[in-house]
Amino acid sequence: MEASAHQDVAGAHRAPAVPEDQLGGDPSSPLIFIVSGPGGVGKGTIVKVLVERDPVLWLSRSWTTRDQRPGEADDSYVFTSRDAFEHRIERGGFLEWTDFLGNYYGTPTPDPLPGRDTVLEIEVDGARQVKALHPDAVLIFVLPPSRDEQARRLRGRGDPEQKVDQRVRKAEEEEPIGRALADHIVVNDDLGRTVDEMLGIIESHRSRRIVR
Ligand code: 5GP
Repeated sequence: MEASAHQDVAGAHRAPAVPEDQLGGDPSSPLIFIVSGPGGVGKGTIVKVLVERDPVLWLSRSWTTRDQRPGEADDSYVFTSRDAFEHRIERGGFLEWTDFLGNYYGTPTPDPLPGRDTVLEIEVDGARQVKALHPDAVLIFVLPPSRDEQARRLRGRGDPEQKVDQRVRKAEEEEPIGRALADHIVVNDDLGRTVDEMLGIIESHRSRRIVR
């Protein structure tokens, strides 16, 4: 695991060691970048800007059984019923899925265009499942600058107070698991700086892509 820009800027951009003879830039070996972190940390905004700035990235759209929030874009998820979700589980149609605070969330089996690298924006249980299936997947774990700031962001997107409390408590459970699993930890103190740091991490892994 590597530290955030605050602790070690150079370290945050350093990819894990790969044997020299396996280094290369073969676009036929696509990478998977997992952006994970507690709710309210800004993952959704971060991945939106990442894919705008890096056209090679392909953002997977998740399925969820939770209700669409007022003002939330129709394409932020495939909003679906529990029956339809469970039917897809039975058909083996998810790379990973989980029950997060009473709703299902899942990543449909990814199907990116050739040459594109996949980005998943998911919570830690899903991140653990993807790392188990794809040990080469790169997990970037995003943290809020503080718990107060995280609660402020959750309130700002319209979550009721009871949900804010529930999600802050959940974040306390998720954080140590995410830290242990992470390849990189990034503190989202400023959107532009955070995205720049993450683009640097992504480039460092591309330049060390393992040729299969
Ligand atoms: P929200 O309800 O705030 O949109 O999402 C709740 C949590 O579920 C967030 O941490 C979000 O990153 C995560 N999430 C979104 N899509 C998926 C998914 O496909 N799989 C998993 N495991 N988590 C997801």
